[in-house]
Amino acid sequence: MKIVVCVKHVPDLQAERRFTDDGRVDRGQGDGTLNELDENAVEAAVALVEAHGGEVVVLTMGPEDAEDAVRRGLQMGADTAVHVLDAAIEGSDAFGTAEVLAAAVRAIGAEGPVDLVVTGMASLDGLMSVVPSLLSAHLGLPQATLAAELTVDPEARTVRVRRELDHATEVLEASLPAVVSVTDQANEPRYPSFKGIMAARKKPVVTWTLADLGVDPSDVGEAGARTRVLEATPRPPREDRVLITDDGDAGLRLAAYLVENRLV
Ligand SMILES: Cc1cc2nc3c(=O)[nH]c(=O)nc-3n(C[C@H](O)[C@H](O)[C@H](O)COP(=O)(O)OP(=O)(O)OC[C@H]3O[C@@H](n4cnc5c(N)ncnc54)[C@H](O)[C@@H]3O)c2cc1C
Repeated sequence: MKIVVCVKHVPDLQAERRFTDDGRVDRGQGDGTLNELDENAVEAAVALVEAHGGEVVVLTMGPEDAEDAVRRGLQMGADTAVHVLDAAIEGSDAFGTAEVLAAAVRAIGAEGPVDLVVTGMASLDGLMSVVPSLLSAHLGLPQATLAAELTVDPEARTVRVRRELDHATEVLEASLPAVVSVTDQANEPRYPSFKGIMAARKKPVVTWTLADLGVDPSDVGEAGARTRVLEATPRPPREDRVLITDDGDAGLRLAAYLVENRLV
């Protein structure tokens, strides 16, 4: 089985965030990291390959330091990595992102058919959760989003997912190849072992440009963006905080606060 996992390099959300003049997240602070929710996608793919055999390719689109995101995937057990790097992709919206990722999945498929594309449930900086669906539309593949559990039957060539909805649990089955996004309930991502970290240094990261993928630069990046950020303002710090210092009765005071404010 050949599984492609899409992983995004995002700014560290624990650090203070700044916005550019045109309302986008300032990504030039050099504190990027692998989108935490994509670790669940890598874990799902690596576990499937451990169970059924095959290979995992981690794929990212982003600036130079986005290579850190695929490196982390390699440390977790992916076999190879692809980084789409091109000045023209800067400013891509979700449509442009999905177009480029789809072209890269097709190019990976040209070297041996792809059975499954796995993504995270959302990127922690954009939080749109639309890339998996757009990707499946571009590739003409079935999609099963927000999987809390993911199993594959390689003989029947099917993928089965469990989705936890508000009032029901849904089980969906799709034929392979398919696109699946996984939630943070799907698994507990492994922490890379020392051996995994050392092995990842020797694993290949292939870099492709838009020209390599046959993507027209005017379709993507700022030039091709179909959406525009009108405004972005940092959330003001909360002023209604109540700080309870524990002098031995913090539990009682917390309970009293909740009762007083009708929060319980
Ligand atoms: C006008 C405009 C300009 C923008 N400019 C930039 C920019 O310059 N740089 C930038 O990084 N973002 C930019 N963004 C944000 C960018 O469009 C979104 O982050 C991106 O399209 C994906 O949406 P999302 O992050 O909400 O992903 P979601 O749909 O929430 O992501 C779901 C999953 O898709 C996969 N995925 C998403 N993005 C990538 C990726 N790049 N590589 C691999 N896998 C991925 C991951 O598995 C992720 O968990 C811009 C947005 C707008 C509207």
